[in-house]
Amino acid sequence: DIPVITVDGPTASGKGTLAAEIAAALGYGLLDSGALYRATGIAAMWDGVSPDDEAALATLAEGLDLRFGDGADAGRTWLRGRDITDELRLETSGLMASRVSAWPAVRAALHALQLSFRRAPGLVADGRDMGTVIFPDAALKVFLTASAQERAARRHKQLISKGISASLADLRADLEARDLRDRSRSVSPLKPAEDALMLDNSALSIEDSVAQVLAWWQQ
Ligand code: C5P
Repeated sequence: DIPVITVDGPTASGKGTLAAEIAAALGYGLLDSGALYRATGIAAMWDGVSPDDEAALATLAEGLDLRFGDGADAGRTWLRGRDITDELRLETSGLMASRVSAWPAVRAALHALQLSFRRAPGLVADGRDMGTVIFPDAALKVFLTASAQERAARRHKQLISKGISASLADLRADLEARDLRDRSRSVSPLKPAEDALMLDNSALSIEDSVAQVLAWWQQ
């Protein structure tokens, strides 16, 4: 049985960073499930598919020609052979992802692709429904939380470091709106699995959060 560790939580809770560090520490593979929804949204924009056209979006998701780099290319992502690494992280891609991911047919279309990431020696998967829907048998489920204020401040710092100016209040409003949509949708809403361990990292450094999860894993 190939072990899976799931890391779910709201926008800008630090899931991606935490999951990547845990995967590196254990030598496991990584699934950034949000990237699949983001890439579906980008494909829809390229093809002029409306975010309201569930059937057309599901067809795009089903045939998603997405490649994640490894080795020297680790961290880079290609869609239809085009490097979308930077585009993937844009706020607009996150918002688009949040819209396309609300459609049941899109979620169903990406299910098998997510399962295919489960390869020896193990997998760390981050997203919203990794522990509840995609990998319900995961050996360890972590649900990350952080206050909206803290998450907005982190996103703000990230943007500033890239030379992008943004208002803290706007960022906070955007991420609260996205959380609300992720929590209130009918399929796979954002919520902790019953057997998830809760980790509020508002006052924790990344190293502390990694250490906590590794300690849980070794128990
Ligand atoms: O995690 P990330 O910010 O990349 O996710 C972008 C959006 O994709 C989320 O706001 C959410 O709506 C959607 N998503 C999802 N299920 C996942 C991962 C992401 O619905 N497992």
